[in-house]
Order: sequence, then structure tokens, then C-alpha cells
Amino acid sequence: KSVTDVSSVTSITLIFSPFLSSIDSTIFLTISFIVLILFYYFSIVFHIAFLFCKIIAGEIPSTKVYEDEYVYAFNDINPQAPVHVLIVPKTHIDSAKDFNEENSEIASHIFLAASKIAKQLNLNDGFRIVTNSGEFGCQTVHHIHFHLLSGRQLSAEMA
Ligand code: 5GP
Repeated sequence: KSVTDVSSVTSITLIFSPFLSSIDSTIFLTISFIVLILFYYFSIVFHIAFLFCKIIAGEIPSTKVYEDEYVYAFNDINPQAPVHVLIVPKTHIDSAKDFNEENSEIASHIFLAASKIAKQLNLNDGFRIVTNSGEFGCQTVHHIHFHLLSGRQLSAEMA
């Protein structure tokens, strides 16, 4: 995607270059560079923000664990425990700070799904559910998701 972005900026630059010949080339190159950086930045931000939407839509492959009308759950690509499932609402909200009176039923769908997944995976010895929110919470993907961790004795240090 980034390569496409770079080539499209290059094409735009080439198309408009004859019209901009009167402008000082240093200014032109500086503007092109800034546009390129902005393209790059927004393509990364857009990709991260909508990563889980693409996984839910099947545009990015994932190992599905559970799905219903409201929720999609799949194995984490970088598991922190033998069982590490990400439970994601199909409605895009950024993080736990964005719950309100209108969308709070999403939380109950998540925890209902977690209970079903725990039964499905026979997590009889227990599990942990974590959601990271914002910078201090170390959230990296800005589509609210709940980590369901189990399969070994988890550390008592956090929560
Ligand atoms: P956060 O750090 O935002 O709480 O959690 C994001 C999680 O998403 C991380 O545990 C990370 O391993 C996982 N993740 C990031 N990209 C992908 C991906 O493309 N596929 C899957 N299955 N998990 C991902």
C-alpha cells in the first residue's frame, strides 16, 4: 500500500511539474517531500485504525475462534499466553474511553462472547480479560478489543 502511495505521489508530481516550472525548484521539492510524508503518515494511521475492520471483513486473514452478529474473535498474531484470543466488536469504536449511553451494550456482547469462548475452549481453570486504552494503557490498534488470555498460570503482577 505504501509503495502505491509513493508511486501515486510521484505520478502527481510528474503530472503537475510543467505547470510548476515557474516556482523555485527548492520550494517545489520541499512541498513534494511534505506531501509524501503526510501520505505516508496517514496511510499508516489509516491502516492501523482500520486493521481490525479489515480482519472482520475477511480482507486480512485471521484464525477465527468465534463469531456472532456483534462480535468477531480470533487468535492474536503475537500470543502472550497459550490461549490469546482478541474479541472485537463489529462496530468500530476507538477504545474503552468511547463507551457511552448509546453504545454500552457492546460491552455486554463482548463479555457474553468471552463466556462462550471460554466454554468452547474448555478454559475451566480460568482466564483473564484485558483491554488496553490509550497511550498509558499501551493500546496499539485503535479499534476496541479485549484480550482473552489463558492456558497457563498468569502473572499476579498486573490486575
Ligand atoms: P493492543 O496493543 O492494541 O492492546 O493489542 C493489539 C493486538 O493486536 C496485539 O496483541 C497484536 O499482537 C495484535 N495484532 C496486531 N496486528 C494483528 C494482525 O494483523 N492479526 C492478528 N491476529 N493480531 C494482530
